[in-house]
Amino acid sequence: MEVLRVHQKQERDPTVANRFRGGVHPDDSKHTSKQAISGLQPAERLILSLSQHIGAPSRPEVSVGDRVLKYQPIASPGGFVSMALHAPTSGTVKAIEPAPHPSGRLVTAIIIEPDGLDEALDLTDKADPGLARSPENWKETIRDSGIVGMGGAAFPTHVKLSPPEDKPIDMIVANGVECEPYLTADHRLMLESPDEILGGLFLAMEIVGAKKAVVAIEANKPDAAEVMRKADLPEGVTVKVLPVMYPQGAEKQLIQALTGREVPTGGLPMDVGVVVQNVGTLAAMNQAVKEGRPMVERVMTISGPLPNGPGNYRVSIGTPLSHVVEQTGGLKGPAARLINGGPMMGQALAGLDSPVTKGTSGLLAFGPGELRTLRQRACIRCGSCISVCPASLLPHTLGSMVEFQLFDQLREFNITDCIECGSCAFVCPADRNMVQFIRQGKAELLALAGK
Ligand code: SF4
Ligand code: SF4
Repeated sequence: MEVLRVHQKQERDPTVANRFRGGVHPDDSKHTSKQAISGLQPAERLILSLSQHIGAPSRPEVSVGDRVLKYQPIASPGGFVSMALHAPTSGTVKAIEPAPHPSGRLVTAIIIEPDGLDEALDLTDKADPGLARSPENWKETIRDSGIVGMGGAAFPTHVKLSPPEDKPIDMIVANGVECEPYLTADHRLMLESPDEILGGLFLAMEIVGAKKAVVAIEANKPDAAEVMRKADLPEGVTVKVLPVMYPQGAEKQLIQALTGREVPTGGLPMDVGVVVQNVGTLAAMNQAVKEGRPMVERVMTISGPLPNGPGNYRVSIGTPLSHVVEQTGGLKGPAARLINGGPMMGQALAGLDSPVTKGTSGLLAFGPGELRTLRQRACIRCGSCISVCPASLLPHTLGSMVEFQLFDQLREFNITDCIECGSCAFVCPADRNMVQFIRQGKAELLALAGK
């Protein structure tokens, strides 16, 4: 559809540097940015979902009744695009059964009852503290350590680091943009662990053979930019501060803002020579390669008006969200809205039964009337959604097509390019719930294709 791509053909205005198309300015509400990362008391039960990443479910490698040690592999990848799982502490496998999942579905999980000893596997053989091994070996370690994108997408990291030979990579982007309102976990990680992030960035550059890298940070985190700039930057690495604009942290938009390169429709960042890795993912890569530590924990933000203990916490994967809330002081009152992730792209949660997964960047809790309630009306064709769409789509048309069940035409209007950023719904004066329409449309397309 030529008409849909017209915005991409416009010449870039050379006076407006570092800009992607569209975008919005939600109030960033980053109230927890001064809260240093702290730990939590362990939970009495861990729920290790076999589907907490993009790709095939992991395959259990333990049986009910087995005793497991901290860092022990408990599930192997179910395919190339899949990942391994490891025990976050020592304990006993109590069940392998359908369990609550942030998606709202029941998904098979390995349930571990910790024994309180936190007895760990000896990682000496797995560690490469002096980086004496080869980049190929580091990539295998990253795969075996179960590392996925920690910005929320949870795409297996070793897959991103395996571009085909005909797609050379010349740049790695360390994504410290964290453009979602409320979330500050990446901000704190940059302040507290810059060397771990840069260690992972060096590994990524060596693995794909990139000579350049950029640490991308939005201008609302000047302290993080200063810390990163003063750190021991590997050769070829620069720190770039970008103007604040949502959804700048999305891969395609970030690449466009940094380089002017446009990832083609249906394409990937590697199509334009770039690999983007979240700063938390880079820190996890560094720990895996240098210390042999697999991914068994992550940093997440607790925020919103309701939590008594808003802040940034290092939490074991599999910890029930109810335990996280309880350990951080509980809620001030009944929650009307619970969100897994940020308010723009996060998932609404039905309750707190589901666990922290590798992609859990935050948990937000709002009381009645504290979030805008959409009272959807007919589209008035104002065009606001078109002007903010970073993917150059016609959101109002996509919404209407889904509403009137014209599913077979959705592909022609590039619905699969939608990154579900919510910018269109954010500006819509008719409160149209566009993201819900678009998710439904994508699901109908998959159903039509028999997948
Ligand atoms: S912003 Fe809302 S009302 Fe305006 S064109 Fe888009 S869908 Fe219609
Ligand atoms: S949710 Fe999709 S259609 Fe709406 S603005 Fe974002 S990319 Fe465009």
